[in-house]
Amino acid sequence: MFLKNFADNGGPLRLYFGAAGGNGHRDVPIGDFLPTKHPGFTATRPSNAPMSTTQTTVDTLLHPEWIVPVLPRATVLSNHSLAITEGRISHILPRADAAGLTPAQQLDLPGHALMPGLVNAHGHAAMSLLRGYADDLPLMPWLEQHIWPAEGTHVGPEFVRDGTALAIAEMLRAGTTTFSDMYFFPDAAAGAAITAGIRCQIVFPILDFPTAWARDADDYISKGLRLRDELKHHELITIGFGPHAPYTVSPDTLQKVATYAAELDVPVQIHLHETAAEVLAAVEEHGERPLDSLNAIGLLGPRTQCVHMTDLGDQDIAALAASGAHVVHCPQSNMKLASGTCPVSKLLARGVNVALGTDSAASNNDLNLFAEMQSAALLGKLTAADAAALPAADALYMATMGGARALGLEQEIGSLEPGKQADIIAVDLSGPECQPLYNPLSQLVYACNGSQVSHSWVAGTQLLENRRLTRLDLKDLLQRTSAWQEKINPTDTSS
Ligand SMILES: [Zn+2]
Repeated sequence: MFLKNFADNGGPLRLYFGAAGGNGHRDVPIGDFLPTKHPGFTATRPSNAPMSTTQTTVDTLLHPEWIVPVLPRATVLSNHSLAITEGRISHILPRADAAGLTPAQQLDLPGHALMPGLVNAHGHAAMSLLRGYADDLPLMPWLEQHIWPAEGTHVGPEFVRDGTALAIAEMLRAGTTTFSDMYFFPDAAAGAAITAGIRCQIVFPILDFPTAWARDADDYISKGLRLRDELKHHELITIGFGPHAPYTVSPDTLQKVATYAAELDVPVQIHLHETAAEVLAAVEEHGERPLDSLNAIGLLGPRTQCVHMTDLGDQDIAALAASGAHVVHCPQSNMKLASGTCPVSKLLARGVNVALGTDSAASNNDLNLFAEMQSAALLGKLTAADAAALPAADALYMATMGGARALGLEQEIGSLEPGKQADIIAVDLSGPECQPLYNPLSQLVYACNGSQVSHSWVAGTQLLENRRLTRLDLKDLLQRTSAWQEKINPTDTSS
């Protein structure tokens, strides 16, 4: 498969700036690597094919300073334009050749880099309403004494609708165009995503104990599958299973999830090996590590997304690689809860796909994938004791294509290629924090903090315009957030 080959082999490194810091550059003949799998869209071959003498009509034509397509890795195109037609990328071509296109609208973006929208592969969006509610605590006391009691009191459809909308507003303004969500009342979360026009994967939660949303494991599963029936044809939403973790979901229930997920061919996302204590407790109780338990019941495979994965030995990594399961790395959540470190370089070396996630705003405390990308790169170097580990291009890949592959969307999003969905962000690199600019890739990973994202599109629909949300009323959203703060009142519920 085309994209997998690039992912597995690293692809040809085509650098705009020399790897040793030189200032020469060459533009990439992108026609050499364009997929042709999307009928109706022809790969544009700017370097070796003459433009047609007839004008081609496109919906939107963007003229950025640079295009960072992510595939091939470490590529930066200068003096190129990108066209959107019917929600998909129809052309990427040299600026001079764009005169052959007739756009309904066009936009000059001087000083901006155009890149794929970021994929936040793990989170609990509605928990944005619990941002800063209980901090500086280890995972289990944080969950058992603070987060779960607060959720028991306040969580309902309105909480999830408003919290998810707040999360989406924050994510869009920091460059995320696809997010994954695991939370109660997933129908309310899906509704908020549909209103906002953002792409998402909703993994409906499954637990063995009752919550406001469901009574028992079967109730969670039947409600979740009903939601899937309602939304399975929605073009921006994927529904999957979200068994919370092996310590909150019994082996029998996990077995059911494995069976259903295989039958329906839908994703499964699960918190796994979040802490060494979790792994130790499982070994004491079941005689095996949680990863081995999942493997034994057939729940570890290419549709499985394992979140956190901090306590991994060489045998675990070998099992993951053999299964084709994905890892969702949440570096800031792992650091804040002192959960442990995910051996990202070792995973990548064994060919395991790694995506990035923020986890919830209650354990992060933001939903900023630019920050996550930078943390992943820095923590990856520290964990590997190697400054050359996890270079900028790898961090950028994890935040885009890595996420797309984990969510099973690698044919549609994750890179800028003709035929793919127009899920795009524009990042303004002209500010002082990004100058001087020797290498746009370095700036995107090590200097940007998300506030430089000026525009974004999902499936060709513009959701952010000069940092203004086009489909969400931010003032109304912040007023509703303020009302929730009054209602939750931390001093009443914390002990
Ligand atoms: Zn989580």
